[in-house]
Amino acid sequence: MGANNHSRSKHETREIGTARQIDQLGRVVVPAELRKMLGLQPGDLLDFRFVDGHIAVLKVDPECALCGGREQLLERHGKHVCSTCVSEIRDEPNCAICGRTGELVSRHEKFVCTTCVDEMSLV
Ligand SMILES: [Zn+2]
Ligand SMILES: [Zn+2]
Repeated sequence: MGANNHSRSKHETREIGTARQIDQLGRVVVPAELRKMLGLQPGDLLDFRFVDGHIAVLKVDPECALCGGREQLLERHGKHVCSTCVSEIRDEPNCAICGRTGELVSRHEKFVCTTCVDEMSLV
């Protein structure tokens, strides 16, 4: 990993300088500049926390519906699945014994490659 990606202080405070009034229902508009900085899109979830007398608003990143991971998510039907899970459930099963993909035979919903089958039949 690049060590100097963020050489500056992690706790940089930026003045947005936009006071917003809370309406009668407790709603407040997130200033456009903040939305841009956080990459917020309509429909994104925000998590509100009370931290040291401040309200901290965190963008809730979607996570993989299968493994809970947050890397390289793809969205399908409103669900997020990470690319690792996608490649695992894609139409390329691999051999339960050696992990190879390719010429596989399936037995009892497991896949075994023909090489392993040959090796086993020699035993
Ligand atoms: Zn996953
Ligand atoms: Zn195999």
